[in-house]
Amino acid sequence: MSDIGKMMRPKRFSIKEKGKIILLVETYTGSRLELHLENVSLHGIGGVLKGKLPPEEGLEIGNLVPASKISGGENEVTLGRLVVRRIIQSEEKNETFIAFSTVDSRVPIDGFLSRYLDTTLDASKGSYDYELSPSKFSLRNFREMNRSNVDLFAHAEQFEVYYQEFVESPKNQFGNIRLPSKGERVKLRQRRRGSRNDFLVMASNDYLGLASSEEVCESAKKAIDQYGFGSTGSPLISGLTEIHEELSDFIAKLLHREKAILFNSGYAANVGAVPALTGVQDLLIADMLCHASLLDGMQMSKGTSRFFKHNNVKHLEKLLKENRDEHVGSLVITEGVFSMDGDAPPLTEITKIAKAHNSRVFLDEAHSLGVIGPNGMGCAAKHPDAKVDVIMGTFSKIAGAIGGFIAADKEVIHWLNFSARSLMFSVSIPPSTAAAALTALKIFRNNPELVNRLQANIKHFVMGLRELGFTIDPNHESAVVPVVIGNDETVGKMNQVFWENGIYVVPVGYPVVARNQSRFRFTMMSTHTISDLDFVLSILEKAMEKVGFEPRKDEDKSDAA
Ligand code: PMP
Repeated sequence: MSDIGKMMRPKRFSIKEKGKIILLVETYTGSRLELHLENVSLHGIGGVLKGKLPPEEGLEIGNLVPASKISGGENEVTLGRLVVRRIIQSEEKNETFIAFSTVDSRVPIDGFLSRYLDTTLDASKGSYDYELSPSKFSLRNFREMNRSNVDLFAHAEQFEVYYQEFVESPKNQFGNIRLPSKGERVKLRQRRRGSRNDFLVMASNDYLGLASSEEVCESAKKAIDQYGFGSTGSPLISGLTEIHEELSDFIAKLLHREKAILFNSGYAANVGAVPALTGVQDLLIADMLCHASLLDGMQMSKGTSRFFKHNNVKHLEKLLKENRDEHVGSLVITEGVFSMDGDAPPLTEITKIAKAHNSRVFLDEAHSLGVIGPNGMGCAAKHPDAKVDVIMGTFSKIAGAIGGFIAADKEVIHWLNFSARSLMFSVSIPPSTAAAALTALKIFRNNPELVNRLQANIKHFVMGLRELGFTIDPNHESAVVPVVIGNDETVGKMNQVFWENGIYVVPVGYPVVARNQSRFRFTMMSTHTISDLDFVLSILEKAMEKVGFEPRKDEDKSDAA
């Protein structure tokens, strides 16, 4: 069990079935005292001795006990040395309560003892009554910690103690509710200064602004009239329509691949395709900053996973040299644009190394298609010499909708159709969604000015950030523009300034990024105007002044490039 797992328990547990567990302590005179265990904490243990404490044992507060054990039923655990902390004598009951702290080891509250601990939580208590604190804990700690509760729901109850404080804290930026409104200006249920609730969105995935395009919405409405709302089944059963077919054909043509196949989200595409393409004898090597959906797909694969340092071709090569020969097949996985940093990979070099080691290459173009490369055609298109075998994409960015796809050689697509479990065992996207995505893709292809406007906005914003002193590549091309501040607290205070001024931006802190890398993740839309962006930059400057923040002067490698 991790330290974190231990820390999050209540500070002290009482023992449910008194008398069942014995604390055996050995004194310096060599006698062994048997105490009935009463309560435990990580570093403390207390029990009841029948009768009075014999004075000749020399057990006084602050004295050391040379050895101790806990035993119950078949189990015995050595605790080692203890220090006497409290002695409470009860004449009435003719017993003595003795509390100790441990010296050599922690009390093993996650072992057999856990069956006897009273884990009932008192909701009226705050997290400081427990061995957790909101400043030390993050949501991730709760997700990742080892659990050792007999009642599975006890974990959720423990989380609830943290959650109640978390929702009231500035850390909670999640789950804002949008009222009827769309595009880059929205109304939220939450209020800001002057009771206003209108916000300029700097946090949308809808980079091209097509989610609210009239044409896109009309095509969805028409499909509902023609087909009804749902697709009525999974793709292999009854869930495909002519619209789904037209959409996958369109994608294959757009990306110059033999065939494409639809999934019901980008997430489903990755968790479906990655394990379907790799088996128990295969090697998977991914960039360490790959998206959760790729990591989950790798976990679901029966193959062996390795990670190379972010965009580091040399490290990829090292891992391939060390591992490739021990495996049958090999898949190198990377992204066209990384979702938190907005940077892009050296794709040609990556595929060159991959091919030199007889590996296939899987490229997630979620944030790159519609944004980077010639006419926004993505990372693979930007690197025509790169040999990419599988392209993954999603409609959640390029169309601001939902649905994912894989485009590849026809044999690969046929295989996925009968092996990707997230596709086979899940309903397909509704015809209306497929129609909307298809219309959005057509608008994207026929209107290069959409991407040009997006790129002009990105450039303008990036230049503004550089003027404010931030180190960011002047050639930054992706719609994800990170503004790294450092610690969570400063980000929280600055976020209040954005919020008061009606700017809806996503602060990203630990654990999504490293602890000293907390940031704002601005996302650009082609529908933002230059004056929108100037407004955001002016509020950023104001927020920096308010908290006394100055960007760190890193060596600006980008200028030299
Ligand atoms: N891949 C990447 C790189 C992503 O950033 C995301 C989501 N933002 C996904 C896959 C999952 O896509 P979706 O939200 O469409 O399920």
